[in-house]
Amino acid sequence: LDLNLVPIFEDGSEFGGVLLVLQDVSAIRRLERMRSEFVANVSHELKTPVAAVKGFAETLLSGAVNDPEITKSFLQIIYDESERLNRLIGDILELSKIESRRVPLQFSPIELPSFVAKTVEVMTSEAARKHINLSMRVEPGLFVEADEDRLRQIVMNLLANGISYTPEGGKVSITVQPLIDGRPASGGDDPDYDNIRISISDTGIGIPKKDLPRIFERFYRVDKARSRSSGGTGLGLSIVKHLVELHHGTISVESTVGIGSTFIIDLPVIQ
Ligand code: ADP
Repeated sequence: LDLNLVPIFEDGSEFGGVLLVLQDVSAIRRLERMRSEFVANVSHELKTPVAAVKGFAETLLSGAVNDPEITKSFLQIIYDESERLNRLIGDILELSKIESRRVPLQFSPIELPSFVAKTVEVMTSEAARKHINLSMRVEPGLFVEADEDRLRQIVMNLLANGISYTPEGGKVSITVQPLIDGRPASGGDDPDYDNIRISISDTGIGIPKKDLPRIFERFYRVDKARSRSSGGTGLGLSIVKHLVELHHGTISVESTVGIGSTFIIDLPVIQ
């Protein structure tokens, strides 16, 4: 509680009493704390690649540049770290735009079978590189009303995570089902489905139970080193969650360590 005492003077001079103002500021304080934590996290995340770029450039400048082999490997590191900075800045800007609701969504009916096929196609080469079997199952005739670019961003992000956190030779799949009252409906021919469920499953490393409630938080990563080496920023899932919520949908996750993970998105059919 914030407490303020305001003296009241009647006719501008005569003391008339005290006004006691009590204000519940816990929500404001919590927001302030979250904001300053975010700024601290952002600064920390940005400092790491900047320090690497600076350090390797300095070493080159102070003589290492005379060795062509070292020069090449240091330049590669500088390039990779700059790319990482780029991704981080991009994700931070994206998240701040979404959080302050500065992304106007353009809803239109999306025909899911062709939408999913197109999106999966974009990811095939990345999956093939790791010999991961990427498959899709979607009943014909299913529609959902959504912002197509944003829906693609959601699905691509989850597929990319699936591929990235699954060892070589594993499987990643996407399934789209119609729901009525939260239960699977008979199919796209049933005109009464009220929600669409998009599930993205992998046979990857899985997520420990204790981390599950936190993975949608900004910069939260189960294994920092692993996320870093796969080029992750730790912001993907929080961006995905916000985008799903902008579609009035929900996202949840089920996972078993060593077996795999499934991310489940339920979207209302009509916005
Ligand atoms: P990152 O850029 O680190 O992948 P995300 O926000 O996309 O960040 O995910 C947050 C964390 O959740 C990841 O660092 C990883 O620990 C965990 N994670 C996300 N998707 C998966 C998955 N499919 N399998 C296992 N762990 C995952």
